[in-house]
Amino acid sequence: PLESIPKTQTIRLRKRHIGQSCKLFYRSDPLKIVRAEGCYMYDENGQKYLDCINNVAHVGHCHPVVVKAGCDQMAILNTNNRFLHDNLVLCAKKLTSLLPEPLSVCFLVNSGSEANDLALRLARTHTGHHDVITLDHAYHGHLSSLIDISPYKFNLPGGAGKPEWVHVAPCPDTYRGKYRSKEYPGEDLGLKYAEDVKEICQKAKADGRTVCCFIAESLQSCGGQIIPPPNYLRNVFKYVREAGGICIADEVQVGFGRVGSHWWAFELQGEDVVPDIVTIGKPMGNGHPVAAVVTTPEIALSFQNTGIEYFNTYGGNAVSSAVALAVIHVLETEGLRGKAEKVGNYILSSLKELATRHPSLIGDVRGVGLFVGVELVVQDEDGQLIPATAEAQHVVSRLEEHVLISADGPDRNVLKLKPPMIITRTKEDSRVMENGLDCKQNKESSRKEHGYSSQSKLMDVSNVDNRNENDAEEDVQMKKKRASIDETNNTGNLIEL
Ligand code: PMP
Repeated sequence: PLESIPKTQTIRLRKRHIGQSCKLFYRSDPLKIVRAEGCYMYDENGQKYLDCINNVAHVGHCHPVVVKAGCDQMAILNTNNRFLHDNLVLCAKKLTSLLPEPLSVCFLVNSGSEANDLALRLARTHTGHHDVITLDHAYHGHLSSLIDISPYKFNLPGGAGKPEWVHVAPCPDTYRGKYRSKEYPGEDLGLKYAEDVKEICQKAKADGRTVCCFIAESLQSCGGQIIPPPNYLRNVFKYVREAGGICIADEVQVGFGRVGSHWWAFELQGEDVVPDIVTIGKPMGNGHPVAAVVTTPEIALSFQNTGIEYFNTYGGNAVSSAVALAVIHVLETEGLRGKAEKVGNYILSSLKELATRHPSLIGDVRGVGLFVGVELVVQDEDGQLIPATAEAQHVVSRLEEHVLISADGPDRNVLKLKPPMIITRTKEDSRVMENGLDCKQNKESSRKEHGYSSQSKLMDVSNVDNRNENDAEEDVQMKKKRASIDETNNTGNLIEL
């Protein structure tokens, strides 16, 4: 049976035995998902949901190739990492082949948080410095070391606030950030935002402090699906390195091909833009806990020279490495980056068209590949942009019946779409794609066994349109509602994805 106990009992046991700070999606009526296939998840009643929220089922839920790789290896060996194993080195070789030189040394770990924590240790050891520059609204993980550098957490009312060794740079948001395209037309906003980082470095030095590193998501997701303007990372990296620090790209959410045109989101800023450390997580295991830190031989050597051994019992074990290799294999053999680019462009252009019909609510549509954000705003009498938080929550909860998305950003007014890389535009495309895969693998029976049918429904953006067709009246209603909404009583869609 897919369900061991009824949902009411699951909730009761969870309340009793699971720490209540562990957040759920849709807190007021949490979803109980009992199985999934491809882009879809199913609850205990068989209700089907299009998964645009997950960001983990990268090549589709329960992809048969990934499932088989994990099961086969688990049946042969999984053990402590202190033995030689081929999977670990083959996984590291493959992973580094996807990154530019000199990023050639890997540490395999179990989660994005572990990866970022290790990245900080590497940075501190290599530079001998301590201070960290982070972006406003950033989230880098749940370990104590990362809460310290995550304004998204330490700025919350119950948070401990910013430690003195942390410096917060403005989020390079050209729509509603410190420097906006509208207010600085034609200016190099990448440089402008980077100069704020330069100032932070100068001030730290003047205060007798030392800059250890700059850490940022290459596209800030928790910050509200932010695409930094051109020239941002190039200049930031230059200033930070001049100050004696190194640069860490957190690709936990946005890496592994999500942007379509490239494997890594930092590559969108130019071929010459290469971080010193890259951290990778969620999509790497398609749901299995495996993550990585990739760095240069020089930085790895500084760490080695401390004489303190690094040992991680599970990180990159034989099963995890087999799974990660299978995910990369699927991305490559199914051409998923190219597909993500195409479908992503379609979603973006459809949403932009939708925005022209609802200019009073859809302020900005932005994205690359299958990393898409829709920022909802209303304007006050002075033309100031006010985040439409209540409206965004309303859209999330109305879509919840069939499509799972979240709203994020400091004001929770940015709708986030991060569907699996296998998402298709139409039912027909879906068939072609699945047939293509079948030919390659000749494993229809395995696919069926694992719940991959050729009947996957389309991601029909026009359905989203239809829902909004009569929204002029709703806009008015929402404006009334927003005045009275209790922001703390939101539907609880999880934000830190
Ligand atoms: N970095 C970013 C950008 C993340 O979004 C997350 C997870 N939300 C993490 C790091 C931490 O990853 P994990 O939850 O796997 O520890």
